[in-house]
Amino acid sequence: MTTIIADATIVTGDAAGTIHHRGALAIEGNRIAAIGPTKDVAARFHGAERVDGTGRCVLPGFANIHTHLVMTLARGVFEDLSPPHKPPFDGGLSPIPLPPMTPEEQRVMCELGALEALRSGTTALLEDAAHIANYAQAMVDTGLRMVLAERAWDRVGASIGDPTEFRRDEAVGRTGLERIERLHAAWDGAGGGRIKVGVSAWAPDMCSPELLKQVRALQQRLDTLCTIHLNQIWGEVAAVQAHHNMLPCEFLESIGFLNDRVIAAHCRCMAPLEEKILGRHRVKVAFNSAIAARRGLSPRVSELEAAGCTIGMGSDNMAEDMVEVMRTGLFMERVRREDGRDPTPEAALRWATRNGYAAMGVPDGGWLAEGNLADLIMIRTARPHLVPFLRPVSVWLHQGQARDVDDVMVDGRWLMRDGAVLSMDEARILREAEAVADRCWARLFAENPDIERPDGFRPLPAAAGGVQAVPLHPVGPGRGA
Ligand SMILES: [Zn+2]
Repeated sequence: MTTIIADATIVTGDAAGTIHHRGALAIEGNRIAAIGPTKDVAARFHGAERVDGTGRCVLPGFANIHTHLVMTLARGVFEDLSPPHKPPFDGGLSPIPLPPMTPEEQRVMCELGALEALRSGTTALLEDAAHIANYAQAMVDTGLRMVLAERAWDRVGASIGDPTEFRRDEAVGRTGLERIERLHAAWDGAGGGRIKVGVSAWAPDMCSPELLKQVRALQQRLDTLCTIHLNQIWGEVAAVQAHHNMLPCEFLESIGFLNDRVIAAHCRCMAPLEEKILGRHRVKVAFNSAIAARRGLSPRVSELEAAGCTIGMGSDNMAEDMVEVMRTGLFMERVRREDGRDPTPEAALRWATRNGYAAMGVPDGGWLAEGNLADLIMIRTARPHLVPFLRPVSVWLHQGQARDVDDVMVDGRWLMRDGAVLSMDEARILREAEAVADRCWARLFAENPDIERPDGFRPLPAAAGGVQAVPLHPVGPGRGA
């Protein structure tokens, strides 16, 4: 079965920045079979199903290489509660914890996050969380390409960014490693190879050197990706200095943790010598621009890139909207460098697509070329904010919106067509997610009367008793990460 998208504008995202105006793209199975002028492609594939691409632009789909889908539950709550950048550091990323959730509740919130990701043109994402087994099947069913990175840690009685004493609980570390192994055995390669299982160490101040070495050994044994939050907040840097008398990247290098299949998330509270360390090990960096901007922090992206790092992009626990992430990243880097021309829109598109795929271990995805994976999106250009569609990449970067995405294909399969999501029951997910939020937040406030509700919180129903909900991070007042 061959499909041809004909007479479209095709932004390939290849190294040369090739754009086909009034071009065609043929898809056979899960691969791109041809790209070129419509008449040439049509001549090669007689009898193919023809999709009219008139007034459409085909682009590579986004790779979101750092997200926590389950944290959609904290929308509108965490965004304005960032931790301090100067001592005293009290630990945690928000003074309000993420409410404990049942496995069912986790699944619904992750479906919501995946739905938003799909609607805004994401075709691949890396989910970093604990207890992913609770919703792995639902993630396979979304049709998206994913790396599921199950998380381990062994620090207890404290959260991220807390420079007080490091208390280690070996059993907590061991159960984390066991969860990773089980998830890998059950789900790696699922969905016809769309799903990979990676390993995650929470952060350098939440893991002992012994556990970090075990995570690294497990990464090698499973032959997979590894991810870690790194130089995320200044409290983390202070904690690693207090515990090891080293900077976070020095610490990870000293125990042999760094390699070219590590995705380091954030990399913003960082000394120049640490950028060089990451570059030397060809580490992949998740530039999580929207959450960096809302915290008032920024990585030095051009310096990381010059040092040898590959820059990809992630949403973290902000909107699963990579259009926003991509544009915010472009703006942040221009502000930081006081340069109105660099980075270019082409560079930002590469971070958010091809580089992200490469970081996820998929070098033949995230850009459109014959033989590559058929992961792509289509936008309709006859919209007031996209007309005139003169320079497609620039217009997409500067004027594009998530809702412009009408069609999404992953692995040769349409997940969204003409604005309708085909792989998920959108109405059910939206309805259930509102109900889950009511239940979880009502329970949290009922069980913790000392926690103050942020201004403007909507009325909640009475909390139901007897629910077996567990904190996702069993640490102190465990907060989001
Ligand atoms: Zn994160």
